[in-house]
Amino acid sequence: MNLVLLGAPGAGKGTQASVLTKKFRIPHISTGDIFRAHMEAKTELGILAQSYISKGMLVPDEVTVSLVNRRLQEEDCRQGFLLDGFPRTLPQAEALDRFLLEQGRKLDFVINLMVDDRLVIGRLTKRRTCPVCHVSYHLDYAPPRQKNICDSCGATLIQRADDVEDVIRERLLAYHRQTEPLIQYYTQTGVIRNVEGNGSIEEVLQNTFAVLEVAE
Ligand code: AMP
Repeated sequence: MNLVLLGAPGAGKGTQASVLTKKFRIPHISTGDIFRAHMEAKTELGILAQSYISKGMLVPDEVTVSLVNRRLQEEDCRQGFLLDGFPRTLPQAEALDRFLLEQGRKLDFVINLMVDDRLVIGRLTKRRTCPVCHVSYHLDYAPPRQKNICDSCGATLIQRADDVEDVIRERLLAYHRQTEPLIQYYTQTGVIRNVEGNGSIEEVLQNTFAVLEVAE
């Protein structure tokens, strides 16, 4: 199964991704996670990515496309993959189509998680993330069992530097300007499945399984 998760920041892509990748036994490829790992390791790519991410801007297409192309050629992607946060621009989507075509592959579904902007601010300012296993929590709706500690691996949770209101607003602007046109792009190719993303995690998961026509 070759999947893409599309949606605004805070739409719940990471949460849906963790369930879908287990269900279909495919690797979870989050460009945001890859950039953050490079930022942590202070690689050249990490330093470059940080200069964009800290402002809520998208990392340039050439950099992002070659990163994803390399990742998709790894062994674990042979049986499928789930892309979370890529593509985010039309040139990225076109590059992905070209890359898959060259390999005789194609996308099965693009899951478009639809959320209201005003919900996003509340979700992201109260989001806490595990820097080790990347699980996300919400201080009110999905808190960790022990304050500030990841349920899955015991690491101390962090607030991402880009989960502050000013940066979230910039990220939302980037989403509307650069990523939203992809809805039309994938509607034309017929692979898009629109999912109502404003509900609880459980409700959204049910909606996702319903559009994919698979049992939970
Ligand atoms: P995310 O964890 O998906 O919210 O991504 C965090 C940040 O990483 C984004 O706000 C962008 O600055 C950058 N980023 C992630 N994926 C992409 C992409 N496909 N294209 C450009 N920038 C990206």
